[in-house]
Amino acid sequence: MISPNGSQPQQVPGSDVRVVFSAGGIDRLGELLVAEGAKRVLLVSDPGIRDAGHEERAVRSLYRSGLVVKVFDEVGENPTTIHVGKGVIAARPFGPNVIVGLGGGSAMDCGKGINFLLTNGGKVHDYWGVNKATKPLLPFVAIPTTAGTGSDAQSAALITDPDTHAKMACWDRKALPRLAILDPQLTATQPPRVAAATGIDAIAHAVESSACTKRNDTSRKLSLAAWQLLEGAYERAVNDPSDTVARERMLLGAHLAGAAIENSMLGAAHALANGLTAVCGTVHGVAVGLMLPHVVRFNAAGGDGNPYADLMPDANQLANRLDQLLQAGNLPRHLADVEVKPDQLPEMARIAATQWTATFNPRKVGEAELLSIYQAAF
Ligand SMILES: [Zn+2]
Repeated sequence: MISPNGSQPQQVPGSDVRVVFSAGGIDRLGELLVAEGAKRVLLVSDPGIRDAGHEERAVRSLYRSGLVVKVFDEVGENPTTIHVGKGVIAARPFGPNVIVGLGGGSAMDCGKGINFLLTNGGKVHDYWGVNKATKPLLPFVAIPTTAGTGSDAQSAALITDPDTHAKMACWDRKALPRLAILDPQLTATQPPRVAAATGIDAIAHAVESSACTKRNDTSRKLSLAAWQLLEGAYERAVNDPSDTVARERMLLGAHLAGAAIENSMLGAAHALANGLTAVCGTVHGVAVGLMLPHVVRFNAAGGDGNPYADLMPDANQLANRLDQLLQAGNLPRHLADVEVKPDQLPEMARIAATQWTATFNPRKVGEAELLSIYQAAF
């Protein structure tokens, strides 16, 4: 679909995000941004990325190209309106004309959140929903340091309300990254647990988008291309972090899976994972990976044929393959493994039933069906 070591931005068919896919691409950030018309750059990142040295590489490249830079690197995991607010306070007197998000999903989503408030005013709640911004946003450039969320291919920012703990999904086509820099050198420093959890999340994005009710010709091609890259590379990437080719495939696969979601949607595994995370605090990728094979088996038993036929001719074979991948990543496969108690399941099912993604699952699910999947996963 696109080739590694492309030093110029490439167009991914079916996506409006241009991609620079190159080892060491971060060192060319400055020249790439100059080509986009950048003068004053806000770099949004987090303390882990600073400690890994990625932030310094980015800043050096920006300085070499004569750009004026402001760093905001106080983003935390699952960014809240407080992180976004702090970023806006840092950014407003500086007056950037480009925003860069460098990090995992949290830094990229926070960068998008800052972009909304800086250009359109108000508070994050005003952008909760679809296409709420009325004025143009600043150009946004995404540089992922994990192969997982696919936020680098998406127009949504997920920002948490710290009071209600609601995850507000702010979707806006104007928030779509103009450019994504996929640099496999940046994912070499991920801890193995992070690589395993974010990688299985990317796999779940490919699997769920391939079968959801909003799928279409464009999204199906993206889901399949993502699945082929990710399924073939996951075991190698988690077993040997020095395997550059496997990391390259994971990074591109995660981006394409994100583009597949941008063109379609997800399904019940994400709804169930959100219920699990809300009640037990389980990390997103771990929760999604745990639920996914159970959801595939549930959907395959619906009597409507195999909704995952694009990826594998037999859905049970697909579920077994996902179990193998979870084992390779040393990830839990049952709710009892993450210390869920049986009496917590009804509350989790109640929350899962409120999740938007559940409505796009290929087999209809309500609270009772979601509870039955949790029970099967126990
Ligand atoms: Zn996910």
